[in-house]
Amino acid sequence: MAHSIYLSSLSKEQYGDLTKKLWEIQNHKCFICGEEIDLDLQTTNIDHIKPLVNGGKDDVSNMALTHEHCNKSKQDADLVVAKKLAILSKIIEKAESEKETPSLKHVLKYYDGSKYDLKYKVEDGYIKYSFEEIGDLEIRTAPIFVDALSNEQFAFISVPIEYLYHDEMINPRGINSSISLLVKEFHKPNPQLHLSLARLEDNKIKIFDGQHKAVAQILLDVRSIVVRLFLNPDVERLIETNTNAGSKLKQIAFDKSIVRQLHDTLYAERLAKYQKDHFLDEDNFSFSEEALVNHFKGERGNVKLYIINSQKNSITRNPDNKLQAYINFEGRGNDLPLSYSTFEKTLLSRFVNPKTILKTPINYKLDEGLNPRLLEKEQLIKLCNTIAEKLLIGKYNPDIGTYRIENNIANGNGDSIPDEHLIAYRLMKEEIMYNWVKYIEKLIVSYFSLTGTMYDSENLFQQQFPDKLWEKIETFLENLRELPLWKDRSMASTVFGGKSTYDFWLCIFQTGKTPDGQAVLVNPINYVEMSEKK
Ligand SMILES: [Zn+2]
Repeated sequence: MAHSIYLSSLSKEQYGDLTKKLWEIQNHKCFICGEEIDLDLQTTNIDHIKPLVNGGKDDVSNMALTHEHCNKSKQDADLVVAKKLAILSKIIEKAESEKETPSLKHVLKYYDGSKYDLKYKVEDGYIKYSFEEIGDLEIRTAPIFVDALSNEQFAFISVPIEYLYHDEMINPRGINSSISLLVKEFHKPNPQLHLSLARLEDNKIKIFDGQHKAVAQILLDVRSIVVRLFLNPDVERLIETNTNAGSKLKQIAFDKSIVRQLHDTLYAERLAKYQKDHFLDEDNFSFSEEALVNHFKGERGNVKLYIINSQKNSITRNPDNKLQAYINFEGRGNDLPLSYSTFEKTLLSRFVNPKTILKTPINYKLDEGLNPRLLEKEQLIKLCNTIAEKLLIGKYNPDIGTYRIENNIANGNGDSIPDEHLIAYRLMKEEIMYNWVKYIEKLIVSYFSLTGTMYDSENLFQQQFPDKLWEKIETFLENLRELPLWKDRSMASTVFGGKSTYDFWLCIFQTGKTPDGQAVLVNPINYVEMSEKK
């Protein structure tokens, strides 16, 4: 574990007392494996639950007691993640001891899922259903969509795990080690990008694609999974599609940006329906997002999602957004530096809060140009443009692209790659961009605090940024780009070789060194200094 100033300040006696105290709080159980700790017979450790390097606090509220053995063999530095992975290991061992391939089925069983059939009916293009067996009497409805070419019918619904099954026919595969990455990712918490796919058969909801994502979420105590549910699918065809879908097909069919566009339309439809139900003109937007959500009772969650996704879509696909030209919307490609997924994870999800549903009228302060959604959209587009202008335009060359750049440099074949291109390419790597965008967020927050301005930290871009702040963001990006590491070719096979984690780069930004101590930056990144002109 990382060095704890707090723990090393304790006397031996105080340390013993703390061990006792945590032992009591945890009902005498080890935080990681969940088994009994015998303080007389077993050696223990006190460790941070959330690692200090991830921003965990160095105090008792962030500490847990573990067997020393469990701590030494833990599968992740974050104890919550380590605990979940320990549970998964148990589930896998048990399945294997019964000569079965461990899969979603076993995880569902462990968490008391896969118990009930779905009661449902189809009326007027909607599916109606309830989950009464778990005491939920609400009758829910979800619109049924029809796939234009195959005519397959499907709906998007959130399913309690008691009603979920693993589809062993279409997807007999087991789970693999990618789970640990997903658990970490969702624990951050980053949202799920692609929905799991399921089909209805004999009133059972069976997941046939996205079982790893489902497993990771269930391990993190999610009790309800959103799925795209096929109603009466041609199973042969699904099997064929799912088999072909290994890479390219799936990317295109379920590209998240397409779902966003779809939700744009759905939001527009709900707005129109609301106006009609309230005898309002079609240009009357004097009602709030909250009123809209409340109006569509059975599908509150959906309408919220449509609002947020529509906002995200209006930012991403706006013709004024210069970053758009650098985003690859069709899954994999070697010529553009940003995948849509990276753009979504690093920037959109950070700044467009999925929980925000506004209580002010949709047309609030529109005339003054201070409408919160409009400000959020315009300013995020401005941020995208600033990023494009400072880091990409005239620098990144799509003809050179992204394919095997670090490899070529490491092998001595990189002479034809200009520094400009290399810098742009590296800055746009997901794990790197994720962290510098975080610094931009800090910069904005600190600007508002230091100037004594009230601000809504949950919805930063919904208040107007003064020009001075924009200048700081620009300067920060200019100075970021100037750091020598981005064009350092000797790091191609080390720091930049292969995909690393968000935390790896957070550590470099915070300390100047990699987690194992290799020096990368002369100084840690200081966003205050870097936002001031030199
Ligand atoms: Zn243990």
